[in-house]
Amino acid sequence: MGEFQPGGHSSGQSGLPGRRSLLAVAAGLVVTGLAACAQQPAAAPAQPPAAPAPGPASVSTPVMEAAGQHPVVPETRPAPPSKSQVMAEFSGRKPVEWGLAVTGVVSKTASTHAVLTFDACGGPQGSDCDQRLLKTLRKLNVPATLFVNGRWIKANPGLAADLAADPLFELGNHGFRHQPLSVSGRSAYGIPGTSNAGEVYDEIMGNQEVMERLCGKAPRFFRAGTAYYDDVAAAITNALGLVPVSFTVNGDGGATFPAPTVASEVGKIAAGQGSGHIVISHFNQPASGTAEGYARALPILLDRGVTFAPLGDTLPL
Ligand SMILES: [Zn+2]
Repeated sequence: MGEFQPGGHSSGQSGLPGRRSLLAVAAGLVVTGLAACAQQPAAAPAQPPAAPAPGPASVSTPVMEAAGQHPVVPETRPAPPSKSQVMAEFSGRKPVEWGLAVTGVVSKTASTHAVLTFDACGGPQGSDCDQRLLKTLRKLNVPATLFVNGRWIKANPGLAADLAADPLFELGNHGFRHQPLSVSGRSAYGIPGTSNAGEVYDEIMGNQEVMERLCGKAPRFFRAGTAYYDDVAAAITNALGLVPVSFTVNGDGGATFPAPTVASEVGKIAAGQGSGHIVISHFNQPASGTAEGYARALPILLDRGVTFAPLGDTLPL
């Protein structure tokens, strides 16, 4: 993969016919600067919840959300395979790709909308909440997909419930321990990744269970800690019924960019009216330039006709 500027990139704005093509577009994308996602996993994370027993062919979600008791439209989704089933199917497979946009990971959508995604990585330096950023999104009525790590939820149960109950936001799974998703122990930004198919299962489904209780339904989207995957781990994610997600635009460089840089990087999506873009930033670093950068960029993008949607409205079921 070639070098890539931290600011992300934009290409192939139109005529994206489908998921298979999206994956092709995604190949070769390398973005640096995800420092906020590069925090070490918690020193002594709790064990993921016990894997649910293999269920029936389909399961129905609860009809009430855990937070706020809002009714939830029942949906039927295939029950995910068990941990033992995942290990049996994937343990013998050798990964051939490693990075931010490997086969099976979605980096773009075919939508005319732009998707803003914000991660909350958790951990000792990553469990705060950027309320100013959330206030800006609410004030401008700009929807977003929030990828939330299990450690962050544990540190912010009330906030997590509030976000789950806010219709402006869609919550995605950002892993249980915030590990790069590998079946061979590959590392990213110095963080050791999961080391086998069973650990991949735990990283995904440990937080999935937490979030299902929080949201009243299972998240559909997953972003690995650091956003690094290998192709086998990406395949496991898909097999578990989640879409592994990367990005096209690195909006805040892991919450390291000053506000003017955030504004200019996010502002790049204006060139394509936002179409198809997935922008990554963070909402767990209130001392960063992220909130101010978005406060500057979003009114301009809205004036230019850019529209925003959560991932769930832009990717086919
Ligand atoms: Zn992260």
